[in-house]
Amino acid sequence: MTGRADVVVAGGGPAGLQFARSMTGRSNRSVVVLEANDALSDNDKSTGGTFDRVIEGFDIPDSVVMDDCADVVFEAPGASEHLPIPGYVLDFPAFLEFLGEDAEANGADVRTGCRVTDPLVEDGRVVGVEYREDGDEKRVRADLVVEATGPRAVLAGPLGMFDRTSAQRGIGKEYEMEGRYDLDSMLFRFDHEAAPGGYAWTFPAGDGVFKAGVCWIDDFHERHGPDDAVIDDFVERWVAADDRWEADERRAVHAGEAVSNNSMNRRAVDGLVAVGDAVSSINPLFGEGIRPGMESAEMAVDVALDAFAAGDTSRERLAPYERRWNDEKGLHWRVQRIVGELLYDFDADRQARFVRKAGRMDRAGARRLQQYELSARDYLSLYPFDPSDVGKLPRLLRHVRSARDRLTASRRSTPGSSPGR
Ligand SMILES: Cc1cc2nc3c(=O)[nH]c(=O)nc-3n(C[C@H](O)[C@H](O)[C@H](O)COP(=O)(O)OP(=O)(O)OC[C@H]3O[C@@H](n4cnc5c(N)ncnc54)[C@H](O)[C@@H]3O)c2cc1C
Repeated sequence: MTGRADVVVAGGGPAGLQFARSMTGRSNRSVVVLEANDALSDNDKSTGGTFDRVIEGFDIPDSVVMDDCADVVFEAPGASEHLPIPGYVLDFPAFLEFLGEDAEANGADVRTGCRVTDPLVEDGRVVGVEYREDGDEKRVRADLVVEATGPRAVLAGPLGMFDRTSAQRGIGKEYEMEGRYDLDSMLFRFDHEAAPGGYAWTFPAGDGVFKAGVCWIDDFHERHGPDDAVIDDFVERWVAADDRWEADERRAVHAGEAVSNNSMNRRAVDGLVAVGDAVSSINPLFGEGIRPGMESAEMAVDVALDAFAAGDTSRERLAPYERRWNDEKGLHWRVQRIVGELLYDFDADRQARFVRKAGRMDRAGARRLQQYELSARDYLSLYPFDPSDVGKLPRLLRHVRSARDRLTASRRSTPGSSPGR
């Protein structure tokens, strides 16, 4: 069976749903969303920590916000600092349901239980997708396909837009607990005892509820953690670690992976744009992915509307999205990947020095940190220098070169070039 739409979105996470919501809100294009899970809310991996840019910028209602926080606390062994960064904690499954309902109210057709398997490619151009629903193989043809399947990169992988295998992989697991939480803050702890090669966190989540989790990047976890580490053991220890909170009952468990590279990926080919984590939009320093995923979707919609107006969804028309992402985000993400590589490898002394330096940032600096718009001077003032850094230079230089090459390749890429090239 073959269906037809102007746009088909593969994946109903924050990025895909925001694309559908915005495209249908700003045009009369027919949009179909295909989500593999049986319900949008089944994607419950995320803690849902976010900032005003998402709540205000994307009109997110209070009903899907579990809590708001006065500030962010950074901690390390022997150091604790408050940063004046207000935040919000989303009920992530409810947030996804809201995005889906809003897209449907605008006219989108959001279908769950539909697993996209392959791009449909004809004459080097993506013309739709193949998917499975109730055991049947089906197809939808579209003028524009949106790849939004998250870190699995179901379409971006085969099309050669994002190579998961050469990217950095991290995992995270979180318990949503009933109990007492005394802080009005999102707390992040950089401490290899609590989270080897990553960080541990606690966020408030409404009256008598909080979230506590642990994440790590595989490469750094190998260096700083025990060989036989089980992430649940770390989460359980973290939940019981501190008398600023006390857990009674576990309400839910959230877990997932994050796969990221420098984010300088190919985001457009003939007939397709890729948004969110399918092309590594997640911030590589702290793993914040909701805001950049939605921002990437919005950038892609801007360009897709122009492409539709011109009656041409070739790469040539869609590539301004890729260039805008690389110019506005990619360059920052590149530097922050490098900073992340250093941060998650610090010993306890340098973790503490980093936290103390972050605590000295003024309100404007904290805002730049929250918006990932740090200047070279900010990085220098945050960085706890050590003679051992010299040994890391060759690896870091390789990252810088590879990111620079990708940016150059993206800027030079031939208009109208075929998928996967
Ligand atoms: C443990 C954990 C905690 C996190 N906490 C935060 C946080 O506090 N704040 C924050 O900003 N970010 C956080 N993140 C990151 C954030 O959740 C992601 O970056 C964000 O969800 C990416 O959105 P996305 O739409 O690109 O992809 P996803 O959220 O991964 O959505 C992709 C969707 O595509 C669907 N899909 C996959 N394959 C197919 C297929 N073949 N066919 C159809 N559909 C398919 C999936 O089921 C899913 O619904 C966290 C991540 C993890 C793992």
